[in-house]
Amino acid sequence: MVEQSDVDALRTASPPSPQHLIDGQKIDASDGAVMANTSPIDGQALGALARGTSEDVDRAVAAARRAFDDGRWSGLAPAARKKVMHRIADLIEQHMLELAVLGVRDNGTEISMALRAEPGSAAGTFRYYAETCDKINGDIAPTPPGTLGLIHREPVGVVGAIVPWNFPLMIAAWKLAPALAMGNSVVIKPAEVASMSILRLVELCHEAGLPDGVLNVVTGEGAVVGEALGLHGDVDVLLFTGSGGVGRRLLEYSARSNLKRVYLELGGKSPNVVFEDFANLGKAAKVSAGGIFRDSGQVCVAGSRLLVQRSVYEPFLDALKAEAEAMVVGDPLDLRTTAGAIASQTQCASILTRIERARTEGARLVTGGARILESSGGTFIAPTIFADVDPQSNMAQEEVFGPVVGVTPFDDEAHAIELANSTVYGLAAGVWTDNLNRAHRMVRAIKAGVVHVNTYGGPDVTVPLTGHGQSGNGSDKSLYAIEKITKLKTAWIALD
Ligand code: NAD
Repeated sequence: MVEQSDVDALRTASPPSPQHLIDGQKIDASDGAVMANTSPIDGQALGALARGTSEDVDRAVAAARRAFDDGRWSGLAPAARKKVMHRIADLIEQHMLELAVLGVRDNGTEISMALRAEPGSAAGTFRYYAETCDKINGDIAPTPPGTLGLIHREPVGVVGAIVPWNFPLMIAAWKLAPALAMGNSVVIKPAEVASMSILRLVELCHEAGLPDGVLNVVTGEGAVVGEALGLHGDVDVLLFTGSGGVGRRLLEYSARSNLKRVYLELGGKSPNVVFEDFANLGKAAKVSAGGIFRDSGQVCVAGSRLLVQRSVYEPFLDALKAEAEAMVVGDPLDLRTTAGAIASQTQCASILTRIERARTEGARLVTGGARILESSGGTFIAPTIFADVDPQSNMAQEEVFGPVVGVTPFDDEAHAIELANSTVYGLAAGVWTDNLNRAHRMVRAIKAGVVHVNTYGGPDVTVPLTGHGQSGNGSDKSLYAIEKITKLKTAWIALD
């Protein structure tokens, strides 16, 4: 049980030094440049980061390649890799609070959620993939007599990982754990406003016994470090989570360089559909409010489009408004807070612009709609509900990535399906119904990688998170993620 005093004791702990971690060494950027880092909690300086260069990326990729080629990790017995992976999970658990607080100071997620979703989830992910080290088999094909067809599954080599600022540890673990379990080497580039906890995680990986050079981290700007990684001729696979705009660039970088495989986990505009037959509307409102307002809406699967059957539309809006106004927005390091800060000034400004646009589009503001707690120096926005949102408007079509939900009424099941499938995205969805047949029909009809039924959020590492439509082209989590960081090889053998 975490006490507030434990959290407070870590509020001002020293952040990692402004250095990369390459080949097991902490090193400065090649030109010595650093970039300022600001906490969204109070607008105060929070250490600094090495401002990476393309030379730094070259150095990290070369270290990763050397490590892969000499077999210091890729050549270990799978059970030996498994031991180190479990030790990494142990260390994450031992440093749970330290990692969570550092991440929260960096990106503003409320600590109550960060504890579960960040180190808690990352440790579970390392444990899950630790067990794959010695359980993923090759195959024997059903070939004619006189031949033997063996199908080997091999690591791809050097994996580049580029991750976003929301849930940095959880998402980094989704990339790192399967890649390392299968014997790859990795270069990871964290987001500019959420690098600190990843730097610490990589230190812990080394402490756990991961050999030098197998996992390298280069901090800095996306347009420099991310681009250099995307264009690098010696990166075999690129794993990305972030926005669609950057995802498109990465595909271009691949085409312009070595045709590396690029896996994209992108944004969403996820529909959350409430039918009149769901008896417990209060529960639907409470969980749906959490599904959009926790972490102040900076969640890829956030249920940002609420579709509510017309007969229960107004009562549901009343219940949702009450839940939104009951959210405790503020200091993310207070255990009572239920919605933390917006990760950066830039993101805060972008959300406010989108709120203004919804107003001009004619949506009805039910609650929120403004920046709050400005005197704290932090970036906070009140949970915001727009009703009567036109399904074709910007608010209904584009991701806000903030604490803003648009609500639209529907008439019947067919209408709900039409609205649910009316964006270019397909990441997540929710359905609230007491009709089992309807629940299964909706799961099949909605174009999304995950459809929650009578809940929202919470799928664990055992199931894939897959982007349909323009929400991505791969799967994180589960055994399906193994496909991304391995390649197949056939041995065709004549048996005389
Ligand atoms: P972003 O695309 O701006 O940045 C993501 C990463 O890409 C960062 O590390 C950034 O530095 C890097 N980057 C930026 N420009 C680059 C370039 N030109 N070349 C290479 N790399 C570059 O995204 P963000 O704002 O950090 O994150 C929010 C987005 O991530 C939202 O769209 C959200 O839905 C999405 N997301 C998706 C998932 C999922 O699992 N599908 C999970 C979390 C977040």
